[in-house]
Amino acid sequence: MASIGHLAVGLAAGRAYSSDPKTMKKAMLAFSLVSFWPDFDAVGFLFGVDYADQLGHRGATHSLVVALVVGLGAYVIAERKGLPARRTALFATLVAMSHGLLDTMTFGGGLGCALLWPLSDHRFWAPLRFIPVSPIGAHIFSARGLYVMAMELVIFAPFWIYATFPRKKPTS
Ligand SMILES: [Zn+2]
Repeated sequence: MASIGHLAVGLAAGRAYSSDPKTMKKAMLAFSLVSFWPDFDAVGFLFGVDYADQLGHRGATHSLVVALVVGLGAYVIAERKGLPARRTALFATLVAMSHGLLDTMTFGGGLGCALLWPLSDHRFWAPLRFIPVSPIGAHIFSARGLYVMAMELVIFAPFWIYATFPRKKPTS
């Protein structure tokens, strides 16, 4: 990707995290950020970082090892905020891991993901690749970008539905 598929994962994770509407909204926002954060590496293009570099696009930030560190960070933050630390860390780790894994399922260009960085620089692809790759940056609003978004609306339908399905009102 990255397009709105990562958002679908973040929103669904937030919904699963808490049934309290206020906490759920915050969790949806937080896990969406966790889901998107690996693509901040695209900023490197502005500074001449090569796609294939360790810090290039789909490099270090897309690593499962780094996702574990993100989970650890979530643990510390949750503990300070009086939230269930282990649950928060587990959710954050899985959401962060989902990004790199989903990117390996894309086709249409780019490189695979450095899932094992810093242990290995190898760029991995999934055996099954069915998500069209999204253009980077402002190009996401091109015709191709909008096509990818539409595809991700369909591919991630279970996540969208789970995240937005109306809840039963508590009966009193
Ligand atoms: Zn990515």
